[in-house]
Amino acid sequence: MKTESYDFTISGAGLVGSILALALDKIGYRVCLIEKSNLKNNADKFGNFYPLSLNYRSKIILDDLGLWDMIHEISYPIDKLTILYRNNLSKIRFTSKEFDLDNLGYVVDRLKLLEIYKKSLDKQFTGVLKLNTEIRSVERHDDNLTLKLNSQDLNSKYLVVSDGIDSNLSKLVSHNAQKINYNQISFMMNCKGSFKENHAIQFFNKSGIFAFIPYTNSSASLILTLNKGQESKYFIDNEPIYNQIADTFSQYITDIEGIKSVTSYDLSTHRMDTIYSDRIMLFGNSLQLIHPVGAQGYNFSLRCIEYMVDHFRDSDEINLDINSFIQTVRRDRTKTISNVDIALKFLNNDHVLSSLISKVAFNLIKNNSSLKTTLLENVIGLNNYAFRK
Ligand SMILES: Cc1cc2nc3c(=O)[nH]c(=O)nc-3n(C[C@H](O)[C@H](O)[C@H](O)COP(=O)(O)OP(=O)(O)OC[C@H]3O[C@@H](n4cnc5c(N)ncnc54)[C@H](O)[C@@H]3O)c2cc1C
Repeated sequence: MKTESYDFTISGAGLVGSILALALDKIGYRVCLIEKSNLKNNADKFGNFYPLSLNYRSKIILDDLGLWDMIHEISYPIDKLTILYRNNLSKIRFTSKEFDLDNLGYVVDRLKLLEIYKKSLDKQFTGVLKLNTEIRSVERHDDNLTLKLNSQDLNSKYLVVSDGIDSNLSKLVSHNAQKINYNQISFMMNCKGSFKENHAIQFFNKSGIFAFIPYTNSSASLILTLNKGQESKYFIDNEPIYNQIADTFSQYITDIEGIKSVTSYDLSTHRMDTIYSDRIMLFGNSLQLIHPVGAQGYNFSLRCIEYMVDHFRDSDEINLDINSFIQTVRRDRTKTISNVDIALKFLNNDHVLSSLISKVAFNLIKNNSSLKTTLLENVIGLNNYAFRK
């Protein structure tokens, strides 16, 4: 039997691997997408909403890939974002109008987004999707790779590893992972109530980081990322203390009802030290988990896919030097991670000096339009980016 050959093989058909497969297929490469599960049973049976914030840049990327029309139907636009530090005196508000944009970004349900990608794989993907399959081992040659699967071998010019946080294949690229334990637990809830439409809020107080993220005009997610030891203020035996939670969010939502726990998880992360080595590259959660404070993880992965498409779209020769593409990813990654680290270092730190620096920084940004613009550009991914509306 002839060995199958591909330009790109992608391990893991999650939010990152699926869209990457669609993107590379669209620009004409032979793509094989390998997924360990059967990709079924993703839908939530309890009607919970799992919020994923897509910034404006991500919308442009998804639009360029021809997927936005479908995603638009499941998305809720955000046109105002307010960030508060400790109290109303340290408050910065961004509006899409200041940028002459319709929106700053969108909130979608991550399970519904994955369903859209799955449908697109069914309908328009011309590559090969192998379900219930794993790559067991990889042999590296000068000009390609041999990938050993459960029941066959295949050849591929490149392998992209996007098979999640516990990826074994990621060790082929990076031997050292930086482990970080943030000593926080994130609790996500859904609720109903009255609030200003299309307006997301993030606030920092002594207990941790809080976010109010609407997903319809009357439903919202409440996200409490609590510093360890603070959980008992808001939860008893993992059950929310409704009055306490309603009180904490009372400035932003009234007539709150039906608070429902959706999920909770410990915030620890890993960051691989290398992105690419000898035809194998790491993407998405296999590369790192980015702290959710700025909702940057998936937005960053979509930018990486955009860089990759730009790099490979016009190349006649797939074996060309991919250093410039990797450098671009590396630069963006360093900046994205350091923005998140700085925000956490100062804004989620009880030290008097950090608190003072944070208050001064908030005032500086509030009163300086060019600093404010730079900060917002980073949040919505439009820094140094020529784009059309
Ligand atoms: C609670 C939470 C909220 C978040 N909110 C935001 C946000 O608002 N905005 C944002 O930008 N980012 C956000 N993120 C980050 C975002 O969720 C991640 O960037 C994204 O989910 C990464 O997807 P992935 O495809 O890399 O990994 P995964 O979703 O883990 O997918 C991995 C896939 O690989 C498959 N697999 C596993 N092992 C194998 C194997 N051996 N072989 C083949 N396949 C395999 C799995 O079945 C799965 O399909 C958030 C993250 C969390 C946890």
